[in-house]
Amino acid sequence: MKEYITMPKLMRFNVLFLLLLLNTGVKIFRGEQTAHVNPSSREKKLALTFDDGPSSAPLARIFAILEQEKVKATFFVVGNRVGLFPQQTAEYMKRGHTIANHTYSHQNYYQLRKSKTEDEFNAIVRREIAKGAQAIKNIAGVRPVYLRMPNGFVSSDVRKIAAETGHTIVNWSFGCDWKKLPKEKMIQNYLASIQPGAILLFHEKEITADVLPDIIAGIKKKGYKIVTLEEILSSR
Ligand SMILES: [Zn+2]
Repeated sequence: MKEYITMPKLMRFNVLFLLLLLNTGVKIFRGEQTAHVNPSSREKKLALTFDDGPSSAPLARIFAILEQEKVKATFFVVGNRVGLFPQQTAEYMKRGHTIANHTYSHQNYYQLRKSKTEDEFNAIVRREIAKGAQAIKNIAGVRPVYLRMPNGFVSSDVRKIAAETGHTIVNWSFGCDWKKLPKEKMIQNYLASIQPGAILLFHEKEITADVLPDIIAGIKKKGYKIVTLEEILSSR
């Protein structure tokens, strides 16, 4: 199954195949991409994820909101920011959140793929994933399990490298906090997107901290439980 899923010609069928795979209750293998909700799940559960940290002020606000709401989230951090914010990096774990790999320097892989040879590209991906994981390990003391490439970039090579380095690729089902929308619209869009098994994408930004309390309140009002990414992935 893993071989099938990593064959480039079949890439566009991966999402469909993955959904079939998930429906059969097969466990997610390391290196597989999981970007979509499980349509067979009826449980009203979803997970929150935050990218591009660590940061200072926005993260402090996001931590406070999550604590008040008793919610645990997953933070996909950028390796070269981890050294800039060591205290915040340690704080994710202390507060019971999950820290995950968002590569070392957040490069644009859509552009890199066009400007580099395949070997050069793969070497960069491998180095970026490994350095990101090492930066997290050095400061937070844990080896990240989940990987999200910048802009959700995924290819068969990326899947292979992720699997070899012990990562599970996790993308998202919805996110819009970078789209410069009015706050009301942003809240509305997030709440309209939720469904069982959803993985919401946010960023460590001030505007996100502004809208987060209303989004969490709206999620709860719809009868949804906010759970860890681990719980979402294992219940698929
Ligand atoms: Zn990012």
